[in-house]
Amino acid sequence: MKAPVKSSASSSRANSIATARPAPRANEREDGLFAQLAEHHHEQVSLYADPAAGYRGIIAIHNTQLGPALGGTRVWNYESDEAALTDALRLARGMTYKAAVAGLNLGGGKSVIIGDNKPKDREPLFRAHGRHVESLGGRYITAEDVGTSTADMEFIRAETSHVTGLMGKSGDPSPVTAFGVYRGIKACAKHHYGSDSLAGKTIAMQGVGHVGYYLAELLYNEGAKLIVTDIDAGRVQRVVQEFKATAVAPDAIYGQQADIFAPCALGAIINDETIPQLKVEIVAGGANNVLAEERHGDELEAKGILYAPDYVINGGGLINVNAELHGWSLERAHNKAGEIYDTILRVFDIAREHRIPSYLAADRLAEQRIATVSRVRQNFV
Ligand code: NAD
Repeated sequence: MKAPVKSSASSSRANSIATARPAPRANEREDGLFAQLAEHHHEQVSLYADPAAGYRGIIAIHNTQLGPALGGTRVWNYESDEAALTDALRLARGMTYKAAVAGLNLGGGKSVIIGDNKPKDREPLFRAHGRHVESLGGRYITAEDVGTSTADMEFIRAETSHVTGLMGKSGDPSPVTAFGVYRGIKACAKHHYGSDSLAGKTIAMQGVGHVGYYLAELLYNEGAKLIVTDIDAGRVQRVVQEFKATAVAPDAIYGQQADIFAPCALGAIINDETIPQLKVEIVAGGANNVLAEERHGDELEAKGILYAPDYVINGGGLINVNAELHGWSLERAHNKAGEIYDTILRVFDIAREHRIPSYLAADRLAEQRIATVSRVRQNFV
């Protein structure tokens, strides 16, 4: 099985949080483990094996300048240990950027458990992972990700308090995510049309699952016209009936004549095949890893299509997790997700000021916040 290729922020950032990669010391191999950590300034990697529990886990901590590193636990059948480490490093780094632009006091981390991604004996596996998380003393907080569930988080909780996404707590993050995406789309409209009203705008939506459904409701209530697709006919039917959406076939969504394209299903859907088909002015949706490669962000820019960077606009999910950690009310989480409106506008301002594409401007914004907070903290150590 092949591992997912990109993290929730993107995989090969042009800029790094601090400066360029430090030159290797005399006893440091350029292709060695520490060089891999130094490349993007990761702070720490922890490996732990518990053969009796069938556990082989990696926890990668990218940056804790803003707070403890938060990121989910992924269970995946990686083709090699190196692939698992690379994925953990990349995903951890993505979390640093996502938390930073969301204005949260969290750093970036991620863990991967190597093996069958539908393990049968889950309790020993996730309790071993809980021990591993606990050993880091709160520098890393875990949550659900691909291959894990709320029930698994309860096993982890038996061994450590550094876990979120527990049963009966913050619950489904999708309404908060969808609200943040909705606010982000409005910010795009403000930037592009001069008004953030979506009344009368046509919005093509790919995927009307958890996030897509709630987003469709918000857009419909504001008077937008919806064109939708999903590979699940039942889900399409629901939004056609409830929100008067027009349904199209999955492959037809890219070529729709619309104002805005909102990807809310898969990653990597802005690519060499789809960009020539697009007839929209804005791409802004909830999906992670929307750009197949960073150069596709440049191509959108060249085509005059405004792109709302994925990890900025879909930050509501992380805000929801943060709300659980700090005991926030749903209202407070919603308000925080609503700030995505201003963040998206700031990203576009940075892009304009520095003449860079929006996906790079988002990285700049994250790096600026981390650098500023780090500086402040140096004053009274
Ligand atoms: P979901 O599984 O509930 O919904 C995804 C929908 O996309 C499903 O209805 C599925 O049938 C549909 N789909 C899959 N392949 C498709 C295709 N080829 N064409 C059209 N539709 C297709 O997932 P979700 O929780 O709504 O998440 C959607 C996206 O948003 C994902 O990329 C996810 O990583 C991202 N995201 C979600 C959250 C959250 O709070 N749930 C937070 C941040 C980011």
